[in-house]
Amino acid sequence: MRPFDYAAPRTVEEALAQHADGAAYLAGGTSLVDLMKLDVARPHRVVDVNSLPLHGITTDDRGLHLSALERLGDLARHPAVAVGHPVLRQALLASASPQLRNMATIGGNLLQRTRCGYFRDTAAACNKREPGSGCAARTGDNRGHAVLGTSPSCVATHPSDPAVALSALDAVLELHGADGVREVPLNAFYRLPGETPQTETVLRPGELITRVTVPPLPGADRSVYVKVRDRRSYEFALVSAAVAVDLHDGEVRGVRIALGGVAPRPWRAHAAEQALRGREFTRANALEAAAAAADGAEPLSGNAFKIELVRRTVGYALTRLGGR
Ligand code: SF4
Repeated sequence: MRPFDYAAPRTVEEALAQHADGAAYLAGGTSLVDLMKLDVARPHRVVDVNSLPLHGITTDDRGLHLSALERLGDLARHPAVAVGHPVLRQALLASASPQLRNMATIGGNLLQRTRCGYFRDTAAACNKREPGSGCAARTGDNRGHAVLGTSPSCVATHPSDPAVALSALDAVLELHGADGVREVPLNAFYRLPGETPQTETVLRPGELITRVTVPPLPGADRSVYVKVRDRRSYEFALVSAAVAVDLHDGEVRGVRIALGGVAPRPWRAHAAEQALRGREFTRANALEAAAAAADGAEPLSGNAFKIELVRRTVGYALTRLGGR
């Protein structure tokens, strides 16, 4: 690990002031410290935000508010999450291991970097780590990589489970920066790689996620997270689906379907949503809609199986919610 300055501010304003070019915020440390040990992340200053007053889970008429430093394990145990938003609770519990969930924060989880093996190997070509160096995954081992939203520069996936659930729930992020406070919908927060895969979000330099708000959403309590992976725990998704359905007299009034493990960001399956909206919630209609969930997918040499896996995962999730 390279030498770095360390700062431990007590307020958001102090944190913003201490963040400068080449600095990194440290929350739970479950991702950043690993990358520093691998020499992939090389901050010259680490701004430890753990003493900031960014704790608490509250509800009001704008929805459910999750402060950025809340730990994933605490969120999963909170009644407001467990009762009203099963998709989020299930995604939280599907993340990492109990030990990591007791350290990792929701703000940090949304900002974790890809698990692409070439990104973490400083001997490999990787445009995300070293812009302009190439993408070893395109011709290498790409079984776990993306089939949607990719570019010639990068085919990595986003690894967060909670981000997929929050995408389906139309969550909004509160960001603090030098220019003040702003809100950005999570579904507009992540950038596609294009020619600049090193820039993953719309965060401005030094900006900090301070809160995540889940707005009141009809159907949030009829929701589910299904994660398909190579082993039952402590593993990232090959494919995941977060699904919420708003039913009225057996008809689908609203439906939200977000995918994980298949794109550089949580991916909303709009074609599948459209195929189901306004129809009777039957098993046949659910499976027909699920067939459109991977529309636009472009497989790599090693991951064509993900396309059918997306369809089946979404179909399974919808039928778990009662499509008969
Ligand atoms: Fe790097 Fe992206 Fe290619 Fe992986 S997929 S090697 S992160 S450029």
